[in-house]
Amino acid sequence: MAFGEFDLISTYFTQRWPNRADVELGVGDDGAILNVPEENQLVVVTDTMVSGVHFDEQTPARAIGHKIAAVNLSDLAAMGAEPAWLSLAITLPEVDHEWLTSFSHGLREICDYYDCQLVGGDTTRGPLSVTLTAHGLLPKGHALRRDGAKPGDWIYVSGTLGDAGLALACQQQRCKVSDSHYRRVLERLYFPSPRVALGQNLRDVASSAIDISDGLQADLGHILKASNVGARLDVDEIPLSMALTESVTADLAIQFALSSGDDYELCFTVPESRRGVFDTLMARHPAKPTCIGRVTSEPGKLRLERDGEPWQGPEADTESVGGYEHFR
Ligand SMILES: [Mg+2]
Repeated sequence: MAFGEFDLISTYFTQRWPNRADVELGVGDDGAILNVPEENQLVVVTDTMVSGVHFDEQTPARAIGHKIAAVNLSDLAAMGAEPAWLSLAITLPEVDHEWLTSFSHGLREICDYYDCQLVGGDTTRGPLSVTLTAHGLLPKGHALRRDGAKPGDWIYVSGTLGDAGLALACQQQRCKVSDSHYRRVLERLYFPSPRVALGQNLRDVASSAIDISDGLQADLGHILKASNVGARLDVDEIPLSMALTESVTADLAIQFALSSGDDYELCFTVPESRRGVFDTLMARHPAKPTCIGRVTSEPGKLRLERDGEPWQGPEADTESVGGYEHFR
């Protein structure tokens, strides 16, 4: 059902937004006409965020706008693609101009930064949900995929892991942290930064890549499955923020990093033969990714180790975490 006389998409999402030269026809017709540069391939990703499932009433509309763009661009980053065009479908219980203004600001911040153009959209009445399809460009044959990891490859992650999970745990009253740490981790939950530049830099260096949306353990698991390999991780090498390590026990912090989602960092593998090229590339990178383990030849097997011994997880000391409730 349309909203009536005026077109929400053109009102909120096109005026003074980025205009790309490769868009022959944008919003306004039945479809967009886009010019894919020669020798490039199109990478298409889609994500949906539903009220009550992916966010709740207290989530600011600007954060929802930012995040629906960020999670899509994170998928493009994990493929090594350059973001180009977006298509948006919004379902709203009612036309709420304040909400739409904030939501469009959040989305636009990312579009402006990455020069992404919204080229189509649809609005419907119903329970609040937003779906975004992002199109990215990739030099032919240079995609990062999940199925290229080989035994002996080194495993890396960008940034720090577990912060968004800690924020969610705090919101659900499963954890309590200081106000300043809470602000920091909430920022990561609400306004994740897609690793777009890193993904493109990894094109000819990484043997496989994925973005971490469901937790390191689950997402690395997808690489292991697709590549038919295993992995050994040194849990002490997993990069953790100060906000996380100062808020919970060391083992619980690792557990957050392994199993809570929404971090939108990249996990990838680098063959020994590309490691020098990778280090050279990353020397200029402000936040160099961290090596956390190695690919093994045991299909599907993920070994978590500390000092070469199996890591047991935080179960043993749940009593000692003080005021914090047990995670999961
Ligand atoms: Mg993904």
